Amino acid sequence: RGKRAFIAGIADDNGYGWAIAKSLAAAGAEILVGTWVPALNIFETSLRRGKFDESRVLPDGSLMEITKVYPLDAVYDTPEDVPEDVKTNKRYAGSSKWTVKEVAESVKEDFGSIDILVHSLANGPEVSKPLLETSRYGYLAAISASSYSYVSLLQHFVPIMNPGGASISLTYIASERIIPGYGGGMSSAKAALESDTQVLAFEAGRKHGIRVNTISAGPLRSRAAKAIGFIDMMIDYSLENAPLQKELSAEEVGNAAAFLASPLASAITGTVLYVDNGLNAMGVGV
Ligand code: NAD
Repeated sequence: RGKRAFIAGIADDNGYGWAIAKSLAAAGAEILVGTWVPALNIFETSLRRGKFDESRVLPDGSLMEITKVYPLDAVYDTPEDVPEDVKTNKRYAGSSKWTVKEVAESVKEDFGSIDILVHSLANGPEVSKPLLETSRYGYLAAISASSYSYVSLLQHFVPIMNPGGASISLTYIASERIIPGYGGGMSSAKAALESDTQVLAFEAGRKHGIRVNTISAGPLRSRAAKAIGFIDMMIDYSLENAPLQKELSAEEVGNAAAFLASPLASAITGTVLYVDNGLNAMGVGV
């Protein structure tokens, strides 16, 4: 039987989530997607109208099939957590069962189990503010959307993951080195995500035989990255300074994720894997 993957955090064909979905699909996995509720309409419409068809092409010439798209807001765990103003918000009212617990229940109902869980989402409302100017609200919102969202996803999906399953998240080197501009508590959120990767690897490994790893990815011109505002500078910096002087493609991260999710990585868990043309290894700019 082929493997089944749930990928949280795809809303267009430009980000890491999409590339990971493609690499997993190319390796024979069935693809389920969790899309942020406010972005759901445009994503599904674009899919249906063929706007992504060019980017759906797999190495064998076939098109990646997405079996089902689930609305998801990973900031809320259960319906009881959703505040009234969100419930009645126009962009949310049209969808239902999009809290983490409900999405896991829906996936269980529809498919029974999954083998691979991917967390490819982050959000920090004050990302463009220096940490020194970040509000408590902004900081906690960044941690909630970018770090706890992963704890919650695993918490709810591990019970429907088959033994030998694997989970992957995406992180950024701003967790451990100073990257001015990656503000709003987003650097803190990535530090939490990386630390949690170890603890979750232990707990999910011991209890369910599931592996948990994170990919520290180099800069990519995704929608989220463009919103931060310094992405072109980071890409240029990497081109100038990394051991490999080429632009990083999302596909390279997708392929690393497919490897980590596969039996080829059966002894790898609790790690941060750098997929960044080696930039992390540099001590000085050159
Ligand atoms: P992206 O815009 O493709 O993906 C981010 C996704 O998160 C979007 O689809 C957005 O709709 C979704 N999202 C935001 N809040 C959400 C919520 N509450 N519930 C559900 N979904 C939500 O951008 P990306 O850069 O590919 O980001 C994917 C991951 O890669 C993130 O964790 C990001 O931090 C990480 N990353 C990105 C870069 C980069 O340079 N782009 C570098 C290293 C790591």
